Amino acid sequence: MHRPPLGPAEIVVDLAAIRANARLLRQTAGVPLIAVVKADGYGHGMVESARAALEGGAEWLATATIEEALALRAAGVEGPLLCWITTQHSDHRAAADAGIDVSAYSVEELDAIAAALEGRAEPARIQLKVDTGLSRGGAPRAAWAEVFARARAGEEAGLWRVTGIWSHFACADEPAHVANDRQEQAFRDALALADQAGLRPELRHLANSAAAILRPSSRFDAVRCGIAMYGLDPAPGEATEIGLVPAMTVRAPLVMVKELSAGDSVSYGHLWTADSPTTVGLVPVGYGEGIPRHAFRRDAPEAAAQVGIDGKRRPIRGTVCMDQVVVDLGGDHPPVGSDVIVFGPPAAGGPSAQDWAEACGTINYEIVTRIGGRMTRRYV
Ligand code: PLP
Repeated sequence: MHRPPLGPAEIVVDLAAIRANARLLRQTAGVPLIAVVKADGYGHGMVESARAALEGGAEWLATATIEEALALRAAGVEGPLLCWITTQHSDHRAAADAGIDVSAYSVEELDAIAAALEGRAEPARIQLKVDTGLSRGGAPRAAWAEVFARARAGEEAGLWRVTGIWSHFACADEPAHVANDRQEQAFRDALALADQAGLRPELRHLANSAAAILRPSSRFDAVRCGIAMYGLDPAPGEATEIGLVPAMTVRAPLVMVKELSAGDSVSYGHLWTADSPTTVGLVPVGYGEGIPRHAFRRDAPEAAAQVGIDGKRRPIRGTVCMDQVVVDLGGDHPPVGSDVIVFGPPAAGGPSAQDWAEACGTINYEIVTRIGGRMTRRYV
C-alpha cells in the first residue's frame, strides 16, 4: 500500500534478511516452509515479505484472513496459499477461484462453503483445522468425526479436495511444557481418525517457528513460520540460535537537544525528574507510530526502553507521547540530525526488538507488528 511520508521516521526492511531467514528455516526443518505473512507481514509488508520468502525457498504462504490472501493474489503473488480466518461474509467462491486453500473446522462452515461453491466445476481446496489444545479455532476433539465425515462427503460430491489437516501449538516457546506432547499426540489421533474417514491430505502441519526449530517430531509435512522468518527469536532463552537476522530497523533523526537542571521533570504527568543536570534529546516517534506507552513506566524507570545514538544506548525518560519521546543523553550533545536507531539488528548499533519487548513487558511479535503510523517503509 502506498502512503505519502507523513513523518520523519522510517522503517527499513532488509529483504535479503527475510530471504536468508527463509532459507535457514527451510534447511533447519527439512520439510516445506509455509511462510506466514499475515498482519502486513508482522509489520514488514505483506506482499514484499511474501515475495522475499518465496525467493528464499518457502514453498507456501499463509495469511490469517481470507481478505489478506485475496490481497496477495491481487498483487500478483502466485503459488500455494493458505488462510484460516473466515466469517459468514467471506467470499469462498473468490478464494476458490484464486486457488487459495481455506481452513474450515465445523460442519456448519463446510455447509456454508458448499453453498457458496454450488455450480463450480473444479473442486475447491480445503484444509481442516483441528483443535488439539489451544482452545482457539479448530474443531474440538468431540467434533472431529462428524467434521471429517462431512469433509469426505464434500470430496465425494466433487465440491472440494481436502488438501491439508493442521493444528496450532499453545506453548511451543516453552519446549518443556507438558502441553506440547499432549498436543502432538492429539494431532496424531486426529490424523488417524481422518485416515479412517478416507481423507488423504497431502499436507499435515502443526509447527510454528519455535516448534519448527526446537521440536523435530512436530514438523510433519511442513512448518508454518512467521516470527523467525523476520529474524526474531521465537523462544528467547531457548536453543533457537540458527543464525537468523532481524529484518526490521526503525530509525529517526534526533530533532532537538536541550539541557536540564536537577529537579526538571519530563513529559506528561512528570513521571521522571532529573536528579542531576543532564541533556535530553527528542526523537519524533510515539505511540502514533506504535511505540508502546509501556516503554517508560513510573514504577520501573531503570527498565525503560532505550534507543541507540552513535553506538550508545540512551534510555527513554518520561511518558511516551503520541508523536515523540524524550531520551536521556547524559550530558552529551550529539548533533541534531544524528541517526537514532530505535531498534534493529545488532549491526544497526542500537537495541533489538527483543530488548524493546522486555522493556515493555511484551513479546517481540507485538513490537514489530504494531509499528507503523506515520513512518514510511523502505526496502533494501
Ligand atoms: N500458524 C498460526 C495458525 C498462527 O496463528 C501463527 C502466528 O501466530 C503462525 C502459524 C506463525 O507463528 P510464529 O510467528 O510463532 O512462527
